[in-house]
Amino acid sequence: MNTLLEKPIELTLSELDEIRHVEADAVMGTYARNPVLFVRGEGATLWDSHGKSYLDFLGGIAVISVGHCHPHVTATIAEQAGKLVHVSNLFYNEFQGKLAAKLCDLTGMERVFFCNSGAEASECALKLARKWGKQNKSEAAIEIVTFSGSFHGRTMGAVTATAQPKYQTPFAPLVPGFHYADRNDLAAAERLIGANTCAVFLEPIQGESGIHPMTPEFMQGLRKLCDERNVLLIADEVQCGMGRTGDFLAIQGYGVLPDVVTMAKGLANGFPIGACLARGEAAHTLVPGDHGSTFAGQPLACAAAWATLEVLENENLMQNAAEVGAYLKGELEALKAKHPDRISEVRGKGLMLGMDFATPQAKTAQTELREAGIIVNATSENTLRFLPPLNVTKEDCRRVVQEIECFLQNNPA
Ligand code: PLP
Repeated sequence: MNTLLEKPIELTLSELDEIRHVEADAVMGTYARNPVLFVRGEGATLWDSHGKSYLDFLGGIAVISVGHCHPHVTATIAEQAGKLVHVSNLFYNEFQGKLAAKLCDLTGMERVFFCNSGAEASECALKLARKWGKQNKSEAAIEIVTFSGSFHGRTMGAVTATAQPKYQTPFAPLVPGFHYADRNDLAAAERLIGANTCAVFLEPIQGESGIHPMTPEFMQGLRKLCDERNVLLIADEVQCGMGRTGDFLAIQGYGVLPDVVTMAKGLANGFPIGACLARGEAAHTLVPGDHGSTFAGQPLACAAAWATLEVLENENLMQNAAEVGAYLKGELEALKAKHPDRISEVRGKGLMLGMDFATPQAKTAQTELREAGIIVNATSENTLRFLPPLNVTKEDCRRVVQEIECFLQNNPA
C-alpha cells in the first residue's frame, strides 16, 4: 500500500478507456486528444495498444526528425542516462560546449543559449532583443514586429509575439511593445519598423497556421530593412529548422543570414531541448544573471541532440527531406490537378507541407486517414499538415497520397 496516496491508484493502466477516464479527472483539459493510445514507435511507424500500425506523417509535430527510437539516439540516451543525467549550469558538462559549437557551424551563428522548449527559445530571443535594443539604440528601443498567422509558443512573451487573437485574448493584457504586420507584406513591415524597434521576429515558413512560406522577396527585403534600420532579424526555426526543408535552417534556403535563431522540436528527436543562437553583438548581450534555466543544456539532453545531429549527417537526411519532400509535393499537386474542385492549394518545402481542401473537410480527412493507419494533422477545417520524420521514403508518400485519394472518393464535397 502506498502510504502517500489517500485512495489507491491503478498503476497498470493499459486500456485507452481507463486512461481517458483517469485523465478526465486528473489532467487539465488543455488538449483535444485523438482516441488512440500509442505504445511503441520505430522509424516512421507507430503502434497502438491493440497492435495496429500507423504511418506517422506528423512526427510528434516535427519533433521526430530521424525516426522514432532511432537506435543510435536510443543507445546514446541509454548510455548517458547510466553515466550522468544532470548537473547544474553552475558547472561544466562534457556536451554543452561541443553541441553549441556544432550548431554554430551549421547555422552561421556564434553563441548559443540552451533551454528546454520552443517557447523558452522565443523568450530568450525576446529578452535578448530588448536588452540589445536598449544597449545599442535607446532605452525606448524595445519594440518587436511579428506577423499575422505566426506561432511562437504559449508563455506570455511568446504568446504576445504570436499574432493570432485566439491564443492571446484570454490572457490579456499582453506584453507591451509588440506590433503586427500581415505576413509577406513588406510595405506594412516597413511602416512598423521605427526608431524604437529592436527586432523583427518571424517563422520563415509558418507551421502552426497551416504551412505558409514567406516569399523570397519578403525575406530578403526584411533583411535589407533590418540592416538599414539597425534592427535584429530573428528566425523562429523551431518547426521549420533541423533540416526539414532540405537546408539545416529554412532561412538558409532564402539566402538570408538572421541575427538570432530559435530552435527546439526536432533537435534531439523527442528529448526536450531548445536553443537560442545569435551572432555579432547580439551573441554577447546576455551576461551572467540575465537569463538561465535549471534543466537546460544538461548532459542527457545535449547527448541526445548530438546523436540526432550525427544521424542527420551520417544518413544524409537533409538531402532525403529535399528529395522525398519534392516528390510528395509533386504527388499532392498531381492530386490537385486531378481533383481541382476538391483540393485548392499545396504549400511548403521539403518535408514541411500543407494541403488545402476546397471545402472544410480536413478534420474529417484527419480522422479517416487515422482509421486507415495514417497520422496527419488538420491545422484548420481546410488544411492538412505533413511533418513526417526526415527518413520517410517515396513509397511511404505514395501510400499517404493514395489514402487521400480514397478519402476524396468516399467523401464527396
Ligand atoms: N515556435 C514555433 C514555430 C512552433 O511551431 C512552436 C510549437 O509548435 C513553438 C515556437 C513553441 O514550441 P514549444 O511547444 O516547444 O514551446
